[in-house]
Amino acid sequence: MRPETEGQLADLIRRATAPLSITGGGTRPWPGEGGGTPLDMTALTGVTLYEPESLTLVVRAGTPLETVRQTLAAEGQMLAFEPVGRDGSTIGGVAATNASGPRRVQAGAARDAMIGVRFVDGQGEVIRNGGRVMKNVTGYDLVKLMAGSRGRLGALSEISFRTAPLPPVTATLALPDLDAAAAIPALSDALGGPFDVSGAAWLPGQGALIRLEGLAASVKARAADLGARLAPHGRVRQGDDAAWHLLHENIQDSDADIWRITCRPSEAPAILSHLPEPISLDWGGALIHVRLPAGQIPDLPRFSGHARRIAGAAPALRPAADPLTARLEQDLQARFDPRGIFGGQV
Ligand SMILES: Cc1cc2nc3c(=O)[nH]c(=O)nc-3n(C[C@H](O)[C@H](O)[C@H](O)COP(=O)(O)OP(=O)(O)OC[C@H]3O[C@@H](n4cnc5c(N)ncnc54)[C@H](O)[C@@H]3O)c2cc1C
Repeated sequence: MRPETEGQLADLIRRATAPLSITGGGTRPWPGEGGGTPLDMTALTGVTLYEPESLTLVVRAGTPLETVRQTLAAEGQMLAFEPVGRDGSTIGGVAATNASGPRRVQAGAARDAMIGVRFVDGQGEVIRNGGRVMKNVTGYDLVKLMAGSRGRLGALSEISFRTAPLPPVTATLALPDLDAAAAIPALSDALGGPFDVSGAAWLPGQGALIRLEGLAASVKARAADLGARLAPHGRVRQGDDAAWHLLHENIQDSDADIWRITCRPSEAPAILSHLPEPISLDWGGALIHVRLPAGQIPDLPRFSGHARRIAGAAPALRPAADPLTARLEQDLQARFDPRGIFGGQV
């Protein structure tokens, strides 16, 4: 099933009698996703409206992320967050996963740059925020609801985004000698100062990485001050700007499982002491990615966040979702997808 218009999409969903799995580029389904008949969104493409002067882009959900990047770059702009995705990612997949890279610490997540959505719910109704809204969904913040909903509440057909100017200059500082645990105080130090950091991370073989963006003179001055501030943590040198791309790209699928752990920065040292060397820390988002043998559940101390298996064996979440969150999710599911078309039973 590969609808080319929103009308066709609504028709397909209305007529569906068995579960559907909404698919963009198919670059990163989680374990347990994709079991229903694929509903391929990649024909629903195209920029509907782009007004660079008002920093607004409206785009159909199946449009490749790369096309969006190129369209904006031609006007010296970018999405007003850091979209992350593998080759083939669609902008709908980015929105549905709230995929947000290291700039999150400064610019916010995908959901913060999303200003409008159109989607088709499990009954085949077209819903959009702003104008006509179904009477039984009035009161929901539909944009926030759909960002990160992972195709469970509806099929996004069109998304409106805020855009931002491309930063003229980028500089990366690296502390190459630090392991993951030693990197945390250095990264926290950088984030806690007046340096307007737009990325703070750790990668094996690269050490701690801190990114500064902006006008050339400002970046130069902040880099000098930050270098001096970080010197007590270890050797500081100029890093490779291309490393930011590796930060999430090295989350490769393999025979092993990949776990994503979200925690408070203060809890990270205890968590890291229970794990093998991580494959990355995205410290602006307080994210730890770690590879574990297939099927292994990490033995973690009590902490305030959660750990989720995002690649490999069957789905797993630690600790299990709390009853209140589970109840809210069930209620939303019942409201937007009462027939269980998107991943439930029909
Ligand atoms: C660097 C990096 C960072 C990432 N960060 C995150 C993150 O913070 N959070 C996260 O969850 N994932 C994250 N991901 C994975 C992300 O899911 C994919 O990279 C990509 O953005 C998904 O695009 P896709 O078109 O391939 O979607 P797919 O892999 O096809 O689908 C992914 C999910 O989105 C749903 N979906 C796709 N299109 C639509 C649509 N039009 N309407 C409704 N639902 C739809 C699917 O049902 C599925 O649940 C990250 C990936 C990378 C490489």
